[in-house]
Amino acid sequence: MLNICFVSTEVAPYSKTGGLGDVTEGLPEELAKMGHAVCTVAPRFDQYKDAWDTEILHPVKYGKETTKVRYFHSYKKGVDHIWVDHHVYLSKTPLVNKKLYGPRDAVDYTDNAERFAMLSQAAIEVPLLVPLGPYGRKGPMGENTIFVCNDWHTALLPLYLKEYYKSYGTFLNAKTVMLLHNIAFQGRFPLLKFEALNLPDKYLQDLSFTTQFAPPPLDETTTKPIVASEPMVMLNWLKAGFLHCDKALTVSPNFAREVTADAAGGVELDEVARAVKLTGITNGTKVETWNPQKDKYIPVNYDAETMASGKQSCKMALQIECGLKTDPDIPIFGFIGRLENQKGADVIIAAMPKLAQLNCQVVILGIGSPKLEEQLEAIADQYPFAKGVARFDPELAHFITAGADYCLMPSRFEPCGLNQLYAMMYGTIPVVAPVGGLVDTVPPQFGFWMEKIPMPKIPGVAVSEEMLARGVDAMIVGMKKALAEYGTPKFEQMRLACMGNDVSWKGPAAKYVEVFQGLMGCQ
Ligand code: ADP
Repeated sequence: MLNICFVSTEVAPYSKTGGLGDVTEGLPEELAKMGHAVCTVAPRFDQYKDAWDTEILHPVKYGKETTKVRYFHSYKKGVDHIWVDHHVYLSKTPLVNKKLYGPRDAVDYTDNAERFAMLSQAAIEVPLLVPLGPYGRKGPMGENTIFVCNDWHTALLPLYLKEYYKSYGTFLNAKTVMLLHNIAFQGRFPLLKFEALNLPDKYLQDLSFTTQFAPPPLDETTTKPIVASEPMVMLNWLKAGFLHCDKALTVSPNFAREVTADAAGGVELDEVARAVKLTGITNGTKVETWNPQKDKYIPVNYDAETMASGKQSCKMALQIECGLKTDPDIPIFGFIGRLENQKGADVIIAAMPKLAQLNCQVVILGIGSPKLEEQLEAIADQYPFAKGVARFDPELAHFITAGADYCLMPSRFEPCGLNQLYAMMYGTIPVVAPVGGLVDTVPPQFGFWMEKIPMPKIPGVAVSEEMLARGVDAMIVGMKKALAEYGTPKFEQMRLACMGNDVSWKGPAAKYVEVFQGLMGCQ
C-alpha cells in the first residue's frame, strides 16, 4: 500500500476552475479504491460544509512574515481532504470557483507567490501532523509519502522538502512527483520575488530562467508582448519543480511529446522537460459524475441501448432551453470551456457568419476573457442558430454534453482535455483539433479531426486576423466532415463506439501506481 498526498490549488467539487480540479478529485478516489492511503491538500477557499476544524495549527512563512495556518479536514469516498486555512485564501474568494488566482480574468493577485509558497510549506506538514480517516481516527500518513505536486503553484514543494526536511533527516524516503496540467502557466515572477520564497541562494540558479518576452500588459494598452532587446532573467517555479522532483509527469503522452519537442510546444521550458524525461499518462474521468444513466442534470437518462431516443429527448430539451429551433434533424455542436485562445473560443465566435451557412446549431458555455464573454452573450441576437452562455455552470455543462450531437474542441493546445472524454460517455462525438491529449483520446473510430488551429509561436502574442481566419477555415472543414456523416450508419456506430470506450480512471490510476511503486522501490 502506498501513501499518496496530492497538493493542488483545486479539488473538485470544492474548488474548480478547470480540469485540474477534476483530476485531483477523480484520480485520488480511484487510487483509494485500489487500497492506497490518499489525501489531498488544498487551500480552504470557502467554508466547505463537510470540513471540520482539526484545531491543528502550524507556523509557516508568508513572505518574510511568520504566520500560522490551521488545518480543516473532510473525508469523502476514501480520500482525506485537508484544507489549509488562512485569511489570504478565504478572504479573497467569496464565491467558490471564482477569484482563486486573481480579482478578474487574466489578472493575478500581487501576493500569489507568497500564497502558494505557503501552501507547499503547509502541505509538507500534513503527513506529519494531521490524523486521517473519518473524523481523524487514524494516525497521520507518516514520512513514507509520495507528494504529487500539481502545476506551478505547488512546484516549490520539492525544494522545501529537500532543504528543510530531508537535509535534517526527515522524510528521507519521501518522493515528489511534478504533475503538469498546463505548460502555459509556469509561475514566472520577477527575480525580486526570490526573497519572499525563503529559500537559500543555492536554489536561485534552478529557479532562474532567461526569456526575451513578457506577456502583453494586463491593462490591454497593447496586445503585443514585451520583447526585450536583452534576455531578461525571471523566476520560473515550474522549471525548479521539474529539476528537483523525483519524477516529472503530464496528462497525456502526446502532450509530453509536444512539450519536449521545441520552444513553442514547451513554452520555452522544452529543454528542461527533455532533461527530466517528462512522461505522459492520459487522464481518466470520474464515471460516477459523468454517467448518462444516472445523471441528475439531464432531462432523460439513457444507456447504450436507449441512446438514440434518450439523446433525442435531451436534444429537444436543450433546444427549448436555449431558444433554438426544435428540430431533431438539425445537428448540434456543443462547446464547454474557458473562453481563451488556448481553447479556440475566439475561432468559434469568429466563425459565426460561416457557420450560418451550415445546417447546424451551436451551443457555447464558458467564462474567461471579458471581450469573448461579451461577444458570446450577444451571438444569439445575431445568429438564431447559436446560443452562448457566459457562466460557470456545471449543470448546464452536463445538459449540453447529453443534448449535443458533437463536442466541438478547436483547441490550439490541449494537455489532455476532459470534455471529449465526458462527451464520449454520452454518445456525443468529438470534433477536435489534433493536438495534445486530443490525439491520444480521439482516434478515428471515436471522432473527427480538423486541421490544427494556427497559434503564435511566441507566448502571449495576440492572434492575427489572418491566423484567426485560417483557424476558422480549419474548424469549418472539420465540422463539415462530421456533418457529412450525421445520421448515417457510421454516425450511429461511432456514437456506440464512444459509449463503449472505457475512459474511467481505472487504467490511468494503474499507470500512476506503477510509477509510484518504481519511485518507492517496491516493484
Ligand atoms: P482546462 O483544464 O484546460 O480548463 P479541461 O478540458 O481539462 O480544460 O477541463 C475543463 C473542465 O471544466 C471540465 O470539467 C469542463 O466541463 C469544466 N468547465 C469549463 N468551463 C465550464 C463552464 N463554463 N461551466 C461548467 N463547467 C465548465
